[in-house]
Amino acid sequence: MDLESLPISNLPEMAETWQQTINWQPSQEEQSQLQRLYQLILAGNLQLNLTRITEPEEFWEKHLWDSLRGMAPQQQFISTLQDKTKLIDIGTGAGFPGLPIAIVFPNCQVTLLDSTRKKINFIDQVLTNLSLNNGKTLVGRVEEIGQQNQHRQQYDLATIRAVGTVSACAEYTLPLLKKDGLAVIYRGSWTREEEKSLENAVKQLGGVVELIEEFTTPLAHSIRHCLYLRKVENTPSKFPRAVGVPTQKPI
Ligand code: SAM
Repeated sequence: MDLESLPISNLPEMAETWQQTINWQPSQEEQSQLQRLYQLILAGNLQLNLTRITEPEEFWEKHLWDSLRGMAPQQQFISTLQDKTKLIDIGTGAGFPGLPIAIVFPNCQVTLLDSTRKKINFIDQVLTNLSLNNGKTLVGRVEEIGQQNQHRQQYDLATIRAVGTVSACAEYTLPLLKKDGLAVIYRGSWTREEEKSLENAVKQLGGVVELIEEFTTPLAHSIRHCLYLRKVENTPSKFPRAVGVPTQKPI
């Protein structure tokens, strides 16, 4: 199979959908980088278990569109920052949502963190291949990274998708943020009960729940949510707790 010849054939036709749903028109260059990312992931999947989402439409919607949808309310936030916005994508896996964000927001300095060395090695190859100078990688457990001076309170934005419970996501993201920084937690379903326990956890971590957005995906019409947490105070030094504790003993 010649992987180079597998296009996301419908990407150009999706321009209108991008515009209508996230008010963004991909440039020719961005289109071809997203296209190339798809091809690299299909090729990488032959050696590594990167993703089960490989069909073009599904890949477009669940990986590309979803990654950028989470950032839609934040475009203003990013463009108005004086210095380069520092974003960390926690548990990035094959690079989602971090890689599409790095492609579309060149003023954003994206750190892609995962505990699996093989996935990070793959992402290093993608960064080189796409000449993405605004992306860098980090291998480790976020519970440990969040206690290191060079990472704690260093980021303007922290994204996290499909990595544990919502209170664990809050405990992973908030310690890494500067004061006034924002965590973006990507979720599928969401309930009022979860909102109460999230509010309690976020308060203990020095944050507030700023916005919860519900939206429908453009192709499969499934419901998704994005939770936006603002850091308003320093996070107590005991957070994040030791490796495994945030999931075993939720706040
Ligand atoms: N965010 C990607 C996505 O949405 O496609 C990947 C999600 S995958 C289900 C979860 C990833 O989080 C895995 O690659 C795993 O290695 C990583 N991960 C889980 N716990 C972690 C931790 N404590 N620190 C760093 N990475 C972690």
